[in-house]
Amino acid sequence: MKTGNKATGGSGHVGALISGYLDGELTQQQRQSVDVHLADCAECSDRLAELEALRKRVSGARLSRVGDDVWREQMNDMTVKVSRGIGWLLFLGGLLLIGGFGIYQFVIDTSVEPLFKLMVSAVYLGLGALFVSVLRQRLVERKTDKYKNVEI
Ligand SMILES: [Zn+2]
Repeated sequence: MKTGNKATGGSGHVGALISGYLDGELTQQQRQSVDVHLADCAECSDRLAELEALRKRVSGARLSRVGDDVWREQMNDMTVKVSRGIGWLLFLGGLLLIGGFGIYQFVIDTSVEPLFKLMVSAVYLGLGALFVSVLRQRLVERKTDKYKNVEI
């Protein structure tokens, strides 16, 4: 046999107060009466738990904004990778161009031994070949990344 609680308007249940209870908007007296009621009313306890879970889900949805930041970070990471690749390409390409120009000057210089010219030319040609092969490998790797299942 249960009598209605005066603090909750005599209805017995505290459903109308649960939201305020969760938000901490109740007076100390209201809060106490809700505590007392919740202690022996499964219905209102369930309602409190339900509302609490709902609040958590809402704040969880707010947390998913963090996912945007992660995505943005990954985009930045990709930008770094691409710009680094372009940087290396420019650096090595420029180096080869300077080397090529140097070797052109060197080869047309009649005061240098032809055999020495040949050896230096071989070194630069070797460097050029390595550069091209590394570039080619990079392109193949990128293609493999794109199609994942493709084996080299
Ligand atoms: Zn109740």
